[in-house]
Amino acid sequence: MAEPNKPNEIARETLKLLASRRLTPTPDNYRRIYSEIAGPGFADEDQAWRKLLKNLTQSGLLTPVLSKKMEKSLEAGDFAALDAALAELPKGKKAKDKDAPKWGELVGELIRQWELKQSGLNTAKKKAALERVLINFGGEADALYPKLQALVKAWSESRVAPIGIPTDESADISANKASETADLPGVQQEASSFPAQGAASLEIRRQLQEIVAQTLLMGVVPRISLFADLTEEATRLAESARAANDEIAMTALSKNLKQFWIKLALRNESDVEVLEGLLRLIRLLTDNIGELVVDDQWLHGQLAVLQDIISHPMTPRTIYDAEQSFKAVLYKQGILKHSLDEAKATLKTMLTTFIDQLGAMSESTGGYHAKIEQYADAIGQTDDIYQINLILDNLLKDTKGMQLDILRSRDELVTARLQVEEAEKRIQQLESELDAASELVKQDHLTGALNRRGMDDVFEQELARAERTGQPLAVAVMDIDFFKRLNDAYGHEAGDTALVHLVQVVKDVIRPTDSIARFGGEEFVIILPNTDLDFASEVMVRVQRELTKRFFLHNNQRLLLTFSGGVALRKTGESAESVIARADKAMYRAKESGRNRVFAADE
Ligand code: GH3
Ligand code: MG
Ligand code: MG
Repeated sequence: MAEPNKPNEIARETLKLLASRRLTPTPDNYRRIYSEIAGPGFADEDQAWRKLLKNLTQSGLLTPVLSKKMEKSLEAGDFAALDAALAELPKGKKAKDKDAPKWGELVGELIRQWELKQSGLNTAKKKAALERVLINFGGEADALYPKLQALVKAWSESRVAPIGIPTDESADISANKASETADLPGVQQEASSFPAQGAASLEIRRQLQEIVAQTLLMGVVPRISLFADLTEEATRLAESARAANDEIAMTALSKNLKQFWIKLALRNESDVEVLEGLLRLIRLLTDNIGELVVDDQWLHGQLAVLQDIISHPMTPRTIYDAEQSFKAVLYKQGILKHSLDEAKATLKTMLTTFIDQLGAMSESTGGYHAKIEQYADAIGQTDDIYQINLILDNLLKDTKGMQLDILRSRDELVTARLQVEEAEKRIQQLESELDAASELVKQDHLTGALNRRGMDDVFEQELARAERTGQPLAVAVMDIDFFKRLNDAYGHEAGDTALVHLVQVVKDVIRPTDSIARFGGEEFVIILPNTDLDFASEVMVRVQRELTKRFFLHNNQRLLLTFSGGVALRKTGESAESVIARADKAMYRAKESGRNRVFAADE
């Protein structure tokens, strides 16, 4: 016959069995037979028993044999057998100790209280309470004992609300949460108006309060420093988290925290919008300003960098790098612009002088014209040779003066013209330097290696050359080993200086036709035109050797820099990205096999 599995079938079978065993149909007998037929899965409260016995056995407090005996006597509702089993509990070292847990007594009492009826308690509630104790403390025999003891005491005093069971079914979530952290009833505690709590759980609650406060002060406040109102609120919340010592304060805290999180989320959303709006604005500006200023080469350089930055996902690092790069360029350009302005001012002065001179000359020659006319008149009107002699004498003196004046003016004009030419030359030179400064943006400001833009330019040229000439082109990728450690041990500035040192060493080793570019933080790409794979590996090994000779000095301390490298030979038609990726892969293999070595890409 099939096993009964519907409740009504089990109930029918139970009644049949009660009758056949001639048992009085008391609730206990009925329940016992019911669970006998339905099996342990149906009788939920039995599960709690089994768990308790299992836990006690696992903690070594019950022998498996004794545990089995107790389980059987419980299943059979045979309390005499249970008492006998309890009497067999070991009276070992612990039992002799006055303060040692008396597990036998406790289990016996627990079973008795389980069976008894208490006001406000039913089996389901008892089961839930027992399970919670087992879940929370089942693994620690020392903690389990007092918890169980308190639980039994609470039941015996017909007290309700042991761990996790709200007295009021409609209790809200926060009250429920509070009761979860609350300890068992019956154990008194000081300095708190929470329901009676054990010292351990009081400590846990205090720790949790402190964690909430610290999360606010250390995790939240530094991230919202721009918003004075929120910062103040978070600080206040942290204070009240620390101070909350009754349920009312806790409930208020939970409500205030919830409101605070909502405000924070709203503020964050608007931050993101502001950021996106700013980015759109910058894009609009950079897209259009370039069109407006057609011949300002240097401005175009700046804009190209800015456009490049905002076209990639931004990280604080890229923004910082861009800012540094801009600052360097702006500084250089500031100096050049100043010189250019000075040169232009000089040119203007020169031109003014030139015109003044011209004016003066025409004035003075105009004066001479008048004088000569005067002399001609005077000569015409007199016949006195003495007078004529006198006039001619004066005329001669004046013409000599005029000659001198003209000569002087001419010299001054020549000088002025030379100065103008000089100034013009200087201006041209400064203007081309200014353009070059804009080109500087192709270099990494820290190390002087090429940056990504510079690297792209070199690749463009070298790929075309390699295609045209059929010469091999090798690419190497290098990444400093344990660079983070160096930063951590000696500081970021020391790390920066190490990067400069490395690039200098590489530049000294490679040929003038080779180029080094900063590919990432401490990762570099070396482009080696007309170079095969073996030679490229050799170059990298030379760099390694050179680094062991030329220590990087930090505060007079010699530090050895090593790197892992990968080299790859470009295949016909292969893109720069692809050959770099292959070299990068080889570099990672070098890292994996212990670092400080150079590997060649397989294919
Ligand atoms: P390994 O490559 O050997 O696996 O170890 P690593 O320590 O070098 O590891 P990883 O490449 O992950 O770390 C790179 C570190 O380089 C992390 C970052 O702090 C640092 N770094 C990146 N850029 C710079 C920079 O411009 N200056 C300084 N000082 N440090 C930088
Ligand atoms: Mg790296
Ligand atoms: Mg590294």
